[in-house]
Amino acid sequence: YKRLRLILGDQLNAGHSWYQQKDSDTLYIIAELHQETTYVCHHVQKVCAFFAAMQQFSSALTESGFDVIHLTLDDTEGFNDLPELLRHYIDKYQVQEFHYQLADEYRLRRQLTDFANTLSIVTKAYTSEHFFIDDAQLSQHFESGKRHQMEAFYRRMRQRFDILMDGDEPEGGEWNYDKYNRNKLKADDLSKVPEPCMFANDVSDILKRLERHKVRTIGDASPELLWPINRQQSLELLEHFCRSCLPYFGTFQDAMTDKLDPFGEDRQWSLFHSRLSFSLNSKMLSPDTVIRRVIEYYRQHSQRISLAQVEGFVRQILGWREFIRGVYWANMPEYRTLNALQANRSLPEWFWSGDTKMRCLHHAISQSLQFAYAHHIQRLMITGNFCLIAGIDHEQVDEWYLGIYVDAIEWVELPNTRGMSQFADGGIVGSKAYAASGNYVNKMSDYCGDCHYQVKETETDNACPLNALYWYFMDSHIDKFNNNPRTRMVYANWQKKSPEQQQAIIARAQQLLCKIDDL
Ligand code: FAD
Repeated sequence: YKRLRLILGDQLNAGHSWYQQKDSDTLYIIAELHQETTYVCHHVQKVCAFFAAMQQFSSALTESGFDVIHLTLDDTEGFNDLPELLRHYIDKYQVQEFHYQLADEYRLRRQLTDFANTLSIVTKAYTSEHFFIDDAQLSQHFESGKRHQMEAFYRRMRQRFDILMDGDEPEGGEWNYDKYNRNKLKADDLSKVPEPCMFANDVSDILKRLERHKVRTIGDASPELLWPINRQQSLELLEHFCRSCLPYFGTFQDAMTDKLDPFGEDRQWSLFHSRLSFSLNSKMLSPDTVIRRVIEYYRQHSQRISLAQVEGFVRQILGWREFIRGVYWANMPEYRTLNALQANRSLPEWFWSGDTKMRCLHHAISQSLQFAYAHHIQRLMITGNFCLIAGIDHEQVDEWYLGIYVDAIEWVELPNTRGMSQFADGGIVGSKAYAASGNYVNKMSDYCGDCHYQVKETETDNACPLNALYWYFMDSHIDKFNNNPRTRMVYANWQKKSPEQQQAIIARAQQLLCKIDDL
């Protein structure tokens, strides 16, 4: 072979220009790596999903006539890391060129660039040809340390790619329909929630491999993986989303419920969310494909789907996903070390078991352990909010998020967790800290009614812990948030409480933090 081309596990983009033509001089390599199973303790379904999808991608390429080496953990155990493995195959096939696609994660990009620099043969880096904004253009939109506004970025993207536009104006006259998108799921809405589209991919061999190699994982394993592992299944999931979830996607985007039993008759645990993040992040689907299909479906069914639903969905992918990536690359590697609020408390043990009396946290964590999935508001306003207001150490928070979700890859996990959720970047991603008391949870979910704790109380022994923790958090960081117009009202309300009441709340919060593992 003349050249060796590396395909990473999240580079399963069949539309990449690499595959436009076959040539017998090129050998592709795709490998299950020990280093990728250990940099954090992953959810078992996440490892299975990546390994199974890699296997499928390799088989599809081979069937189409490409020369591919697919290596399992058995084949790669003798190599310390990716560079050592690559060096071996470069020598073995005496190739004259090494090609790779730019990794989306800082850690891997660094490793590959450093490795390429040590080679005396020709090396060539390609973009992954996946995002709307490619690597070379990122710096036109994002500056290190700067606060960028997602909304302004999103509008530019809509104009530039002519998505949901009516000439120069946004379709329907408004850029953003978020105000129509904040409904709670009431009891009689529950029947609207569709059953999720789940697959039953046989991953028993992968599970055996993980056991054989003593790979440490978290979460519930099943030999039948429900996540999509190829483009075909990813497209099926996309169709399911358009057909069954899109009509209510925006309306109930922020809603949460534990009234649907994932193992009972009502298995609707993912509500109206698409669960396309794994297909997108592994690049089995491109964001362009997803957005185009959703808009096309909307145009064909506009009598039963409103623009607000579609705009809400497009904003997540064209707006948030690209924005988050821009923030990541503009600010790495410093971003990994930011800790604007000096959070340093240990993550409670129950984050790994779901064993807490707070019903909202119990539900979000147990569901994450069952399915390697929680929707955005569960991540941001339940687990994320708790860590924020309890001041949990970001290293531990990142480790949890990076491990537990099937879609967790650092470029998207880190700015969401450290930035949006924990405000550790001092406001680069979001203009305010997403801190909330039990009142928010009660407004957006049906958890509080059956909870052990009383959501309407703050200082009493059985009061919802989120209430006292919220006020304590806001009071402790008054210097950071007092001048923010979005939180000024909060401080006005705090000042309305008597000094005795403030004292009682602070005392309750401090007590809760002392017994955080028992909440
Ligand atoms: P849907 O609700 O159906 O949304 C559609 C798509 O929009 C998603 O698939 C995703 O690609 C994109 N999207 C939506 N919100 C965001 C966002 N804030 N950032 C980037 N893309 C977004 N997303 C990940 O892909 N990987 C992560 O590791 C990850 N970690 C997160 C950690 C925290 C603390 C928070 C608050 C959010 C995180 N997100 C992450 C963003 C978001 O929660 C998930 O993308 C979403 O829940 C995935 O489920 P879904 O596909 O059903 O999304």
